[in-house]
Amino acid sequence: MSLLGAAPAGTPAPQPRLRLRLSPAAETAVRRGHPWVYAERLRERNREGLSGELAVVYDRNDRFLALGLYDPDSPIRLRVLHAGKPVTVDDAWWRARLAAAIARRTGVHDARTNGLRWVNGESDGWPALVVDQYNGTLVLKLYSAVWLPRIADLVRWLGEALQPERIVLRLSRNAAPTFEQAGFRDGQNLLGDASDASVVFLEDGLRFWSDVVKGQKTGFFLDQRENRRRVGTSARGLDVLNAFSFSGGFSLHAARGGARSVTDLDISPHALEAARRNFALNAADPGVGVAQHDSVQADAFEWLERSGDRFDVVICDPPSLAKREAERAGAIEAYHRLAMHSIARVRPGGLLLAASCSAHVTPEEFYAAVTEAAHRSGRSFGEPVYTGHAPDHPATFDEARYLKAAFLRFEPPA
Ligand code: SAH
Repeated sequence: MSLLGAAPAGTPAPQPRLRLRLSPAAETAVRRGHPWVYAERLRERNREGLSGELAVVYDRNDRFLALGLYDPDSPIRLRVLHAGKPVTVDDAWWRARLAAAIARRTGVHDARTNGLRWVNGESDGWPALVVDQYNGTLVLKLYSAVWLPRIADLVRWLGEALQPERIVLRLSRNAAPTFEQAGFRDGQNLLGDASDASVVFLEDGLRFWSDVVKGQKTGFFLDQRENRRRVGTSARGLDVLNAFSFSGGFSLHAARGGARSVTDLDISPHALEAARRNFALNAADPGVGVAQHDSVQADAFEWLERSGDRFDVVICDPPSLAKREAERAGAIEAYHRLAMHSIARVRPGGLLLAASCSAHVTPEEFYAAVTEAAHRSGRSFGEPVYTGHAPDHPATFDEARYLKAAFLRFEPPA
């Protein structure tokens, strides 16, 4: 700054703070803690906003309502950071917010698990941002360009708080183009110089590879941890089918739990190969070492329908079948069909785990589709057990509760 305090030539004059007003319904939703404001619910804006800029929302009585990150490139135009009393969003505020997410997970994991989620997006107060740890590597996954101006800060905050050896940047399809224009790349290191695509980490003492550079999500489906544990304790002496098996997460837990055989079913040869690598990595485990492990490469929808094979435990965890609201009805129908064909593969006395990760299908709709398929099979079954995300994946609003699972035990004939 010059002595007179004037900005040097060429520096844009500081802009007034971006101020917004919302529709009454959006005001109410934000006041109740909903973290998204859609573009059509903005009523007033004092000027154009930049991507990632801090915006202040005032209510209809001109009182402070909330603060958020402005996102001109998304239908979710404002990503709320805070609602209630006015706050100053400075470096200390961000660091405290990260510390709170870390503190929320105290006691959730022991030393036998070092694959975990530290930050679960909006539900931890970090909109469109996920931080997963795989051993010494952190994966920072960004779902919106609002974080582009804060990448260096994020690396610093995460580095201070968690002391990772490496931080890998992962970008959602929507966010990638903006980051690429700024010179970033999906899968690049933000910290550390290791170049391995895959990292070995522990889940309950089992070792897994996670492809942190190219793998789906951040490389592994950490959200299913509790359901894998449950399968692990229900598999002794049994034949297990893992449909949509990906890298064999459920399969390894079943094998360690004493399953007689585990069959992976996936359309992707790459996924099946990853599961074989994970079995090899755990070969010293007595259960994994003796379980028979088979791989079937096929479209699971077709295979489940036409196969005559039967299993004691059938896991059916397809990818999201409704990426948008318009696909909801079709997805419910597909879950119903999948459940019917999966149930036909379950032996008397056996167990079905049916899971859905489609955010647009509600738990009620999914559970109704599965139980209706079970009734239609004409077989008797016990009270279903319904489960959701692992506890390091908190969900504070409806749209964040995407994962639902139903365990159904089919009773043997009397
Ligand atoms: N249950 C896994 C995650 C499943 S991810 C876990 O706990 O880790 C979904 C998997 O479904 C992917 O591996 C993908 O390759 C596979 N897939 C997608 N469409 C498929 C299809 N039509 N038939 C079989 N597998 C499919």
